Amino acid sequence: MKALSSKVAGIASSATLDIADRAKAMVREGIDVISLSIGEPDFDTPVHIRDACCESLRRGDTHYAPSRGIPELLRAIATKIEADNHFPCSPEQVIATAGAKHAIAMAMEACLNPGDEVILLDPAWVSYEPCVQLAGGRVVHHRLSEKTFQPDDTLLDRVTGRTKMIVVNSPCNPTGAVFDKKSLQLIADLCTDYELLAMSDEVYEKLVYGKEHVSLASLGDMAGRTITVNGFSKAYAMTGWRLGYAAAPVEIIRQMNKIEQHSVSHPSTFVMWAGVAALQGDQACVENMRKEFEARRMFLLDEFSQLKVRAAPSDGAFYAFINARGDDMEVAEHWLNKARVAVTPGTAFYAPGWIRISYATAMPRLREAMSRIKAVWNEAPEWKR
Ligand code: PMP
Repeated sequence: MKALSSKVAGIASSATLDIADRAKAMVREGIDVISLSIGEPDFDTPVHIRDACCESLRRGDTHYAPSRGIPELLRAIATKIEADNHFPCSPEQVIATAGAKHAIAMAMEACLNPGDEVILLDPAWVSYEPCVQLAGGRVVHHRLSEKTFQPDDTLLDRVTGRTKMIVVNSPCNPTGAVFDKKSLQLIADLCTDYELLAMSDEVYEKLVYGKEHVSLASLGDMAGRTITVNGFSKAYAMTGWRLGYAAAPVEIIRQMNKIEQHSVSHPSTFVMWAGVAALQGDQACVENMRKEFEARRMFLLDEFSQLKVRAAPSDGAFYAFINARGDDMEVAEHWLNKARVAVTPGTAFYAPGWIRISYATAMPRLREAMSRIKAVWNEAPEWKR
């Protein structure tokens, strides 16, 4: 066989999956492992959304749709963006994608040329860097302060003549940080001054606890230079449906649409009808899930504060991000082997020394997981606590 693509060979496989895979293997062996490493809501998709999909199938929506998405969904997304995210958006500025991840991959392919630099704010989610690399770009890492996990003006040090784009993810996976308007304004000013693009991943926007979510594109001239990515996985518990979208200036959407036309064509037609129902239906389901996440978050943060463990100020998403006080890989390994609890080491997110704990797990299991962690915690020597 001739050598396969060196571009793909150079991409790391997901470090988040290593511990998760081990945990799954242990479960298969009959070991009772509690997984706090997952990034998906434990709730089922609300019934009215599932019904809309079934009705669509019964109507016979089993054919190709327009490649950017059905007009009803594009209109519903544009309306939602203007109402919730406060920047002007027409349906022409929207593209429906097979999950938010697909929107991110296409945005990078549409925007980057070989050698273009993309700034990532670390700790950062695992898929940005591979998407940049596959598109021929180069990632420049910028470490956020471990006190605030907010961007500050040290970001300026990372800008070079090759910088093309900054990736912003608020609420953030893995830290749960919700960026203040002040921090976002700083990024907006930087983008304007240096004529940069921004990719703003807002998939966790509905999961905020006592803080306001601000969309980057709502600031200054950012609507003209931002690709806002969002989806249905987190807000509506629709991970398996693979539905997301991007909103951006029309020229960028046109380029993304060409990629979509020549790859997946569009998300499944009946899934897009479910998306219309999600956006236009009663939003009480979103609030109910948010409230449940909020209760779990309070519980976890309280437990770790009793253990005197430092946690990032996580005001959003469904992750607690705690200081491991040592080697995060070792701690995660220890908790898996001794406590039978799977968590994700911060190293997976370019943040060694930290641990991400997902609370997308029902309260009784979360309580059980914490009591197991506390038991092994107390076994640790004093200096390690
Ligand atoms: N962005 C972030 C920050 C995420 O955590 C995830 C899911 N883990 C995604 C994007 C992808 O979401 P989707 O299921 O819509 O592809």
